Amino acid sequence: MEETASQKSELKKSCVNCGAELLYAPGTTELKCEYCSYTQSITPSVNGFEELELKPYLEELGSRSHSEEITMLHCKNCGAHQHVEENYKSLHCVYCGMPLIVEDMYKEDWILPGAVLPFQLDQKKAHQLFKKWVSGLWFAPNNLKKAAIDPQNTKGLYAPFWTFDAKLYANYTGQRGDYYYVTVPYTTTVNGKSVTRTRQERRTRWTFASGSISGFVDDTLIKASHQKAGIIPPKVAKWNLKELKPFDSSFLSGFVTEKYTIPLKDGYLSSNEEARKIADRWVRQDIGGDTQRVTSIDMKLTDETFKHILLPVYISAYRFKGKRYNFFVNGQNGTLSGERPYSFWKIFFLVLAIVIVLGIIILVTQL
Ligand SMILES: [Zn+2]
Ligand SMILES: [Zn+2]
Repeated sequence: MEETASQKSELKKSCVNCGAELLYAPGTTELKCEYCSYTQSITPSVNGFEELELKPYLEELGSRSHSEEITMLHCKNCGAHQHVEENYKSLHCVYCGMPLIVEDMYKEDWILPGAVLPFQLDQKKAHQLFKKWVSGLWFAPNNLKKAAIDPQNTKGLYAPFWTFDAKLYANYTGQRGDYYYVTVPYTTTVNGKSVTRTRQERRTRWTFASGSISGFVDDTLIKASHQKAGIIPPKVAKWNLKELKPFDSSFLSGFVTEKYTIPLKDGYLSSNEEARKIADRWVRQDIGGDTQRVTSIDMKLTDETFKHILLPVYISAYRFKGKRYNFFVNGQNGTLSGERPYSFWKIFFLVLAIVIVLGIIILVTQL
């Protein structure tokens, strides 16, 4: 009998020596036992990437063949839906740090990821980056450093995204603008006298343009999570998708996986807007000249496919004086960004000091 995807991912990955659960070791293609250091390599999938044909999924979301039931935990505080692998010990929401209640677990269908970008940085490294960042902050309250000490607060999350591929074809009409320069006389006043001078002015010659463009739109990345609480900053949300691996649940072992909360249909609408922007760019290139006016674009997308992919990010959620802050590290390349509190008193005293110094300078110079 053929093994189904759901049976495969339910397989326990345990250590042959000591029976402990094996965790994915970032930067490798191995599972590792954190107790006895036994390693087991993750066999590369022979199936390659699963690009799924879009139309059937838009019409009947979750065609049974590529979805499976997984256990989800819903955070009542911030609304995140996250899947926690059995071997993940701490049940706290990655976004807001609130404890998750096992009783709130429920099973639901999700479209299986077609690819995953495995973590390259381990949790220790991510937490070090966080600590370094905190210690380098100007005007941060002193006890923020204490809040940053617990490494348990930095968690690895596989964030969900949709990617779309399509062939793009478009007919267009517009105008091509070419610059030219004319010499224009003008009058000005020099030493009380009126004189005539000339200057160069730029003009545009417009000519009608029309034609067609075509090409392949590859890997349009659309976020699939609408976390208001913890939006991954654009600076951090840049991954090299060339490193994507065919999906294997082994890569998720030891990490939290978030379920998409933006449905495929909505993701598809966003990808269409992206395709329109691409078409506009290609049309402008095709028209050429120095500047362009685009009157109409009649765009068609064919051979549309999509993938559900998981991308790695570390999130540190920390509370400070009742307010929540998030710090993010890209799990592939270590780019970081975070929100931070300011110390009112540190800034207050600095401003006060500046005012005093200025006051003294003014006093001294007027004596
Ligand atoms: Zn072991
Ligand atoms: Zn939460």
